[in-house]
Amino acid sequence: MARVSGKVALISGGARGMGASHARLLVEEGAKVVIGDILDADGEALAAELGDAVRYVHLDVTDYAQWEAAVATAVDAFGRLDIVVNNAGIANFAPIEDYTLEAWDQIIAINLTGVFYGIKSAVPALKESGAGSIINISSTAGLQGYEALPGYNAAKFGVRGLSKNAALDLGKYNIRVNSVHPGVIRTPMTDSLETPQNHVALHRVGEPIELSNLILFLASDESSFSTGAEFVADGGETA
Ligand code: NAD
Repeated sequence: MARVSGKVALISGGARGMGASHARLLVEEGAKVVIGDILDADGEALAAELGDAVRYVHLDVTDYAQWEAAVATAVDAFGRLDIVVNNAGIANFAPIEDYTLEAWDQIIAINLTGVFYGIKSAVPALKESGAGSIINISSTAGLQGYEALPGYNAAKFGVRGLSKNAALDLGKYNIRVNSVHPGVIRTPMTDSLETPQNHVALHRVGEPIELSNLILFLASDESSFSTGAEFVADGGETA
């Protein structure tokens, strides 16, 4: 099967965790992939492992010039850009009364402004391709509140709202924009969390591949009539 054959994807935060899983699956399904991250050693190692279909670029999502360079890498190396997965993100935890100004500024810069930059920088290349799929990684924290996650909650709700705007503004170019809302997934981000899952219908955490399968669907033409929508993969946490 090659469900994204001929397509070129850019994945932010793709050096490890879910982003790396998405890169692997998209390559398996025929895509060329540019991985952008700040973890250069991990990103270079993954690119070397995946071979000619992959390039790694240093990409701090808070730096617009680095986004422009990452898009240019996709076009220079592979001739086009079709798919952007705005996946890079961090989490920081404290009740709102203890939440520092620095923690707020950092998480909004990475988790929300970074997504805006990713969309804006990619639009010219996606227009040139005649179509596109932008997949913005939000969270169940973009659907409901959680204790001690003020910045993360705000940013992930913001990603959901921004996705709706971008779907409306870019639909005329056949650029689709959707948000994805994972529940607790087993990645380095959640290593330190205690994750009792009794509140989850399936009573377990998710695995990265269970999100990658959804990303593949949204990246492919199989989702051609889906835009401005929320795709939840949370084991029933928000049911
Ligand atoms: P992870 O920590 O394993 O991966 C996040 C990646 O983002 C890392 O490779 C990291 O280096 C990169 N990153 C961080 N700051 C960056 C920056 N400034 N520029 C570029 N890259 C940067 O975490 P993950 O669980 O794979 O998370 C991926 C996405 O999924 C995030 O947006 C996260 O908020 C979201 N998410 C995760 C879970 C979960 O349970 N793991 C649940 C819901 C949503």
